[in-house]
Amino acid sequence: MAFKINDIPPEGLTLELADKLDLFEEGSVTTPFKATVTFKAEGAGLFHVHGNVEATTELECSRCLKRFSFSIKEAAMDFELVPERPREQLAEHGLGKGELDTEFYRGEEIEPKEFIREQLLLGIPMVPVHSPGCKGLCPKCGADRNDTTCGCQIETIEGETSPFAVLKKIIKPEKE
Ligand SMILES: [Zn+2]
Ligand SMILES: [Zn+2]
Repeated sequence: MAFKINDIPPEGLTLELADKLDLFEEGSVTTPFKATVTFKAEGAGLFHVHGNVEATTELECSRCLKRFSFSIKEAAMDFELVPERPREQLAEHGLGKGELDTEFYRGEEIEPKEFIREQLLLGIPMVPVHSPGCKGLCPKCGADRNDTTCGCQIETIEGETSPFAVLKKIIKPEKE
């Protein structure tokens, strides 16, 4: 999928890509994606990149640990693609200060999968849930509370969730 930066004509280049990538760098290339990406040369090795990408991946529910399919629909991409250079040099050129995000490429080649992967990661929730109403696992017996009612008595830990916890603390000393 990589191509040479010299292959980008002055009027720009639009690519339709469909492939798979290793989204979470787990060593397995299992996430299919589709992307439309336009590259426009802006001189000095800079490229403005915009387009969109969609993919379907598997996430683990943070509450019940169930694996579920998650779709990233047409995530918009819009960033500057700049040659990888030491940070000081970037500052000198005034890069990385603009409104746009910055992605990097190395040498004379651009590998779209690298920034597509990063753009997709931006579309994944920090705390994924398989459904907004997921009841999660029972903290006592580990049962999936979406499927079963285990009947465990879950006591609210004093001071954490009960709004009366504070009251109890105040009242107690008077009783004793
Ligand atoms: Zn869940
Ligand atoms: Zn339980």
